[in-house]
Amino acid sequence: MNTIKASVVTPDGPVYDAEVEMVSTKAQSGELGILPGHIPMVAPLQIGAVRLQKEGKTELVAVSGGFLEVRPDQVTILAQAAEQSSEIDIERAQRAKERAEQRLKERQQEHVDFKRAELALQRAINRLAVAERRI
Ligand code: ATP
Repeated sequence: MNTIKASVVTPDGPVYDAEVEMVSTKAQSGELGILPGHIPMVAPLQIGAVRLQKEGKTELVAVSGGFLEVRPDQVTILAQAAEQSSEIDIERAQRAKERAEQRLKERQQEHVDFKRAELALQRAINRLAVAERRI
């Protein structure tokens, strides 16, 4: 079968490495599907899921933004943080979600950094969705 090498890399090390049939994810410009032979490109990613089709099955990786680079024989995703669905600590993500929601509720308080709380909430929701394969 025709495959392309897919890697997800973070500052803490590699998170995913495999030969896959297809990579799909959400770039800031919209949904992207990468098949072997795709033209070279670089795209910024949103907080979201990367779907990797391998031997007919779909594997999921949660990514907290970053960049995707396509080369003729390889797709590389560079992310600040990324986790395979089986590696996600659901309780930790749940706690992060509650903390972020609490911060966002304190709207009138000046010391709260809303953008930061919103991003933390998005990361937590994304991790929960990927862990529970609801994405
Ligand atoms: P928290 O507040 O729980 O740390 P966060 O969204 O602020 O969540 P990040 O800064 O994005 O966390 O990630 C820090 C490190 O912890 C990264 O290596 C990331 O992969 C890991 N990580 C964060 N949340 C989880 C989780 N729920 N399960 C597994 N690993 C996680």
